[in-house]
Amino acid sequence: MDGRPARALRQRLQSLAAAGVKQVPKAGSHAAPVRLSDTASTAADVSAAAASTADQLAVLRDEVASCSRCSELAAGRTHTVFGTGPADARLCFFGEAPGADEDASGEPFVGRAGQLLTKIIEACTLKREDVYILNVLKCRPPGNRAPLPGEVANCRTFFERQFQVIAPQFICCLGTSAAQALLETTEPIGKLRGRWFTYGSARVLCTYHPSYLLRNPAAKRDVWDDMKLLMAEMGVNP
Ligand code: URA
Repeated sequence: MDGRPARALRQRLQSLAAAGVKQVPKAGSHAAPVRLSDTASTAADVSAAAASTADQLAVLRDEVASCSRCSELAAGRTHTVFGTGPADARLCFFGEAPGADEDASGEPFVGRAGQLLTKIIEACTLKREDVYILNVLKCRPPGNRAPLPGEVANCRTFFERQFQVIAPQFICCLGTSAAQALLETTEPIGKLRGRWFTYGSARVLCTYHPSYLLRNPAAKRDVWDDMKLLMAEMGVNP
């Protein structure tokens, strides 16, 4: 890594310290916060941790790009869609699978459902670039059908390793496929939403998928209730 990210991070930590912030959560871990009283050495620690999580994600991204476990999906794809966001994001949004727009661009949630997801994130006073967005499947299922159990099983190693590396504090599952895959349950989304679960060290909240909201705008009220729960737990003021 060149010196720029470390320098930028050191400056950011020093300005936080100057603003009176005493400690920040350590990247990739929720165990011990980093004290800012020693920013010269902790900046190096934090940037090294962030670099190594980014490196691990880059290795995983390459593995995904060459995956052909689901022969039908691999044969039909334009791009694999790995995920986007900071490698040390505190919050991950977990969707189902790429659609046509995502297959064309290689980025998750860039179509109509993605635009609605961006609005939801911004309504929570968060920024899309500060959260990590990923899907259960990394390849587009034909005709946007729901993922088959065998496809979820094939992709499980990828999303589980993404969560292991990112180690988010919060995961928001968007819709049935994501919620059932992560929590390894067959309960319907209507029963799973609005309740807290755990996955590793992350707290998990499930809500309706933005595509469902495009078809059923009345459900936006439920999603907003879920987002208020999430924000309260994260200490974010809407
Ligand atoms: N729906 C999803 O679940 N994921 C995407 O990336 C786009 C639409």
